[in-house]
Amino acid sequence: MTDIEILDVLSLPGGAELTLGRDGHGIAIDTHAEAEVAIEGGAGRGAFEGLLHLLRAGEPQGAFSFLRLSDVPEATGERPIDVDQSNRSVVVGDRVVVKVFPRTTRGPQPALDLPAHLAEVGFGAMPTPFGAVIWTDRDGTPVVVATASAYLAGARDGWDWYLELLLGWLAGEVDDETTFEPATPVGELAGALHAALATASSVLTSPVSFVDEEAILGWKTRAEVALDEALALTGGEEGERLRGREGRIRSAFDVFDQVPTAAAMRIHGDLHVGQILRWDGGDAVTDFDGNPLAPPEVRVARDSPVRDVASLVRSVDHMGRIAQRRGAGSVEDIERWVERSRALVVEGYVRSLDRAGQLSLFEPTLLFPLEVAQVCHEYAYAARYLPSWLRVPDLALQAIFP
Ligand code: ADP
Ligand code: MG
Repeated sequence: MTDIEILDVLSLPGGAELTLGRDGHGIAIDTHAEAEVAIEGGAGRGAFEGLLHLLRAGEPQGAFSFLRLSDVPEATGERPIDVDQSNRSVVVGDRVVVKVFPRTTRGPQPALDLPAHLAEVGFGAMPTPFGAVIWTDRDGTPVVVATASAYLAGARDGWDWYLELLLGWLAGEVDDETTFEPATPVGELAGALHAALATASSVLTSPVSFVDEEAILGWKTRAEVALDEALALTGGEEGERLRGREGRIRSAFDVFDQVPTAAAMRIHGDLHVGQILRWDGGDAVTDFDGNPLAPPEVRVARDSPVRDVASLVRSVDHMGRIAQRRGAGSVEDIERWVERSRALVVEGYVRSLDRAGQLSLFEPTLLFPLEVAQVCHEYAYAARYLPSWLRVPDLALQAIFP
């Protein structure tokens, strides 16, 4: 925090302060400067509660403004959420989750427009969005500071509740019906989300386009860049195994050349089982901030909805790899579980798109190359953020290309 240029300070009711600053490396701050949002204290010091009070009041405070999407409930008392998270979420009064973005970016953010759009078209399988705190730079560029949404009582994310059903099944404690039950509804939830994202609203007036070969070639280039990055960042045995499969990976990407047109639209961008919350009221999808590794212009760009499906079914596979890494059950059983579960996810997805009359959103031939691209991303993610994760794409790639 030494090289931070302080940009603004927001005094919060209750006495806490929110400080917004910028890394002081001095170059190109207008195009990709990142704002650092530092909250004084943490849960229990009243900062999140204070933000919620300001959001409820809705009165701008200098360059800070408050976007309200629905009535903000009164809530007091803070409790941290203690699961792995990229941002900082705190439960206020058991009614609201206030999420502050410690590393945020200048420019349009999916966390601002996607919840607004989804609420308007009546998508119910998400925590009701209450609104957002925005700071506006002198040149008019918005910076998202925090969001607030309804707290879902008893919520557990899929890395918790879903993985437990796999581990229990491998241990012989959970039966077939129970362990395979979630796959279809999870797929249906993704389909319902896409149908809602493809419905016009005042936020997204013309949500779907059908793009041509050139745009699809752009998706191929992105996949190749992900592969090149994975190759550059992965050493050791894992790197060797990756290099040994490079030819087959590149052939998988050739599929992009054979698709003349496909749907493009706003997507979730980071859809995985960890974003599926199982709570007292059913299943809900959360975290509309988009791909955490991508710059804001990519996060709000139209993309293939198949990318969401690919990352979702990859995360089903990843649960299998996590079980494998832990030595839980036999590899044959894990493969069987992954195969059946992912097939049910895709089936549920397609069925719900079909019900919504939106089957044209799904171009099935793109699923495999986008899944392979997603595995490549996982290598880069492991190299950059979480070295212990490397085993997951390593095992996944060996399963795809034995
Ligand atoms: P991040 O961007 O930091 O990953 P998420 O929005 O995915 O943040 O939330 C992180 C975790 O907080 C989730 O995995 C879930 O356990 C919990 N969580 C998020 N939103 C809610 C909510 N509305 N109600 C209850 N728990 C939530
Ligand atoms: Mg998340």
